[in-house]
Amino acid sequence: MNTQEAANEMSAFDIAQAQIEVVGKRLRLDPGLLERLKRPSRELTVNFPVRMDDDAIKVFTGFRVQYNQVLGPFKGGIRYHPDVSLEEVRALAAWMTWKCAVIGLPYGGAKGGVICNPKEMSPGELERLTRRFTSEISIIIGPHKDIPAPDVSTDAQVMAWIMDTYSMNQGYSVPGVVTGKPLVIGGSKGREEATARGVMYATREAAKNIGMDLSDATIAVQGFGNVGYNAARLFKEECSSKIIAVSDSRGGIHSSRGLDPKKVKLHKERTGSVLGFPDSNQVTNEVLLEMDCDVLIPAALAGSITVSNAPRLKTRIVAEGANGPTTPEADGILFKKGVTVIPDILCNAGGVTVSYFEWVQSLQHFFWSIEEVKKRLEDVMVKAFEKVWTTAQEEQVDMRIAAYIVAMKKVVEAYRVRGIYP
Ligand code: NAD
Repeated sequence: MNTQEAANEMSAFDIAQAQIEVVGKRLRLDPGLLERLKRPSRELTVNFPVRMDDDAIKVFTGFRVQYNQVLGPFKGGIRYHPDVSLEEVRALAAWMTWKCAVIGLPYGGAKGGVICNPKEMSPGELERLTRRFTSEISIIIGPHKDIPAPDVSTDAQVMAWIMDTYSMNQGYSVPGVVTGKPLVIGGSKGREEATARGVMYATREAAKNIGMDLSDATIAVQGFGNVGYNAARLFKEECSSKIIAVSDSRGGIHSSRGLDPKKVKLHKERTGSVLGFPDSNQVTNEVLLEMDCDVLIPAALAGSITVSNAPRLKTRIVAEGANGPTTPEADGILFKKGVTVIPDILCNAGGVTVSYFEWVQSLQHFFWSIEEVKKRLEDVMVKAFEKVWTTAQEEQVDMRIAAYIVAMKKVVEAYRVRGIYP
């Protein structure tokens, strides 16, 4: 097996464990503690029936992985996708642990998923699937135990069904059981665009540090969902950057004059894809990643930047909107090329940060203005970015290793003061 095949063979969880191993050894952690950090606390697999619209009963499989709770209650999204696996959910739960720690939130990490194709399901089927999955995992979730949120193909409506199902089973409304809810039932202002806004703040700090003017910058975005679309829109609206390419699962579009993300979104809503947008050239997702640009934002699924395309990337900054878009080998190549990679656990932490704000508001039944949300998010992102950037300079490592150093030190310190029970 050559290096490239080996990289392709690595599962997301292999990557997550390799990252912990590298930094754990660097921090000279106790081998037993390192072993603990490489494994999740708890994993729940559920197989459950859903009545479909044609009256057939279909059995679905879902997962909730609770990775680590030494810093606080578990927190993490739920994704609906045909390729969801326990292995992938484990990796995403591990990354949530480090994300919450690096950003300074009082949470542990978790993640959930259901193997399904939401594109082929009716709203009624999705509601019944969500309510049954919520009941199945309700033995381990709760506002002080584990708080789900949206992820790939789950949205505010899905969160509303989770909140309602959990509340019905408790006998009273429990808004704090999920975040990413609609405003009317206790959602937070600014949650919808929070991940993308965090990507923008982190990129703005990186650009300042490497002397790049974002108002002149060209941006390519892979994935045009919640994160990709909002990032493209915010970079254009708030930084005056030029969005030269965007893509979705069917392919991408390019325009050297720049795209208007709001118009592309309307086109996607009408036609089902970004493809065919007027005055744009069609490109593949592979070409988009290797495009000459100042900032590349992978905002789709894991594993898009690998040893095979990393040497050909022509960007100065990779801002990881997605979770796990860059393999460890690709990281090494980009570091040597002098590309600044803002790692996922820092770059896309705006979503969980505003989720935390929403949870605080839900528990207190006291709500903040959009200005307050944006200001607090900016403060959190800038502070976390500075800490990671300084660590990277001091330790002469890339920003991902620096982010893991910051996060793992925090988790290890919590273990030290809490002790190992009993
Ligand atoms: P989404 O479902 O809203 O959008 C995903 C987008 O990616 C869609 O446009 C889809 O067409 C596209 N896509 C799917 N497969 C693709 C492929 N093979 N090539 C190119 N494009 C493809 O999801 P989202 O919420 O925007 O999440 C995107 C990524 O960001 C995920 O990795 C997710 O884990 C991560 N993330 C999301 C949030 C959040 O708050 N939504 C927070 C942190 C991280």
